[in-house]
Amino acid sequence: MQTISILAVEDEPSICDNIIYAVEREGFQISCVSTGQEALEILKTQTISLVVLDVGLPDMNGFEICKEIRQKSNIPIIFLTARNDEIDKILGLEIGGDDYMTKPFSPRELVARIKVILRRSNPESTNEKPNEFTLDIHRYQISFQGVDLGLARYEYMILKMLLTKAGRVYTRSEIMDAIWAEPLASFDRTIDTHIKTIRSKIRDIAGDLEVIKTHRGIGYSILEKYSL
Ligand code: CA
Repeated sequence: MQTISILAVEDEPSICDNIIYAVEREGFQISCVSTGQEALEILKTQTISLVVLDVGLPDMNGFEICKEIRQKSNIPIIFLTARNDEIDKILGLEIGGDDYMTKPFSPRELVARIKVILRRSNPESTNEKPNEFTLDIHRYQISFQGVDLGLARYEYMILKMLLTKAGRVYTRSEIMDAIWAEPLASFDRTIDTHIKTIRSKIRDIAGDLEVIKTHRGIGYSILEKYSL
């Protein structure tokens, strides 16, 4: 089994210590850094399975870091936050985080959330259900009915976003904001084109099955039954 390596980005040493203690007890590896720059360096050079990311850091805020990470990677991110207005932002899902914890939090609860997210994003470690999607975040692959869809980068990111909250309707601008670093002028058409390609790749495997639903004048959702 591959080693699970967690990166914690937190500038309060006592919180870092608690996280390290709780995570190591579960047999995961963990590194803790106190700045965004260090975190981005580590992500460039090491294989990390999940990031625990404090929103208030000395050099950059957690949202900026997340946005930067999301340009290259779909690695799961759990935010640590101390403020309600930050929670609103995370829940708005504009940011692209996978979960959040409000300070003060129990390190054991954090570890429980880490495990849930890792199980969700690591198909090898769960019982694969037939006829459904599986996500391999390490290979940037999404499979349907056990067959890799062969998605290009943006297709992968869009489908992953829809799958993360199956049933939820995403507007085109929400998708654009979460995935593209610079908003494009013709983003409606761009999103529609990518969705079309994703649909055709699913159709190649599944035939005429409705998987992605169009909500006229709003956006797209993935049918709830395809929840990961
Ligand atoms: Ca902090």
